[in-house]
Amino acid sequence: MSAADDAPPAPTRFEPPVAPASAPFWDASREQRLVLQWCRDCERPIHYPREACPRCLGTELEFRPASGRGVVYAASVMPKPGNASMAGREPYVVALVDLEEGVRMLSNVVGLRPELVEVGLAVEVTWEPLSDGRHLPLFAAATQA
Ligand SMILES: [Zn+2]
Repeated sequence: MSAADDAPPAPTRFEPPVAPASAPFWDASREQRLVLQWCRDCERPIHYPREACPRCLGTELEFRPASGRGVVYAASVMPKPGNASMAGREPYVVALVDLEEGVRMLSNVVGLRPELVEVGLAVEVTWEPLSDGRHLPLFAAATQA
């Protein structure tokens, strides 16, 4: 293994900013744990993280572990990079993934040919390292049903 293999990945991908509401989500990503925000008032999951529940405006919110499993709700193959930070990754798949918990997450589906990504495909979370120790949740074809 060369020294280059130990270096953190080049920060080519857009790295999401951390807001106070999303800090627990990103902290968990450092350990490659997917967590979702839940409203304790109406007992529903919330994504993306916010300051108040979008349904009941409750502010008793907490983060709970998520299964990391879901199905593709919609997918689009990007033959050209949508922005400069994705150059060299094309073609890639931008997808809306419905998680088991009942929220929809915008992400990429990776690890299989883009034309094989279809609506209803069972997927599970996988992680791409970011330059600051966080990880970005992506999705790959599920290894078990
Ligand atoms: Zn609520």
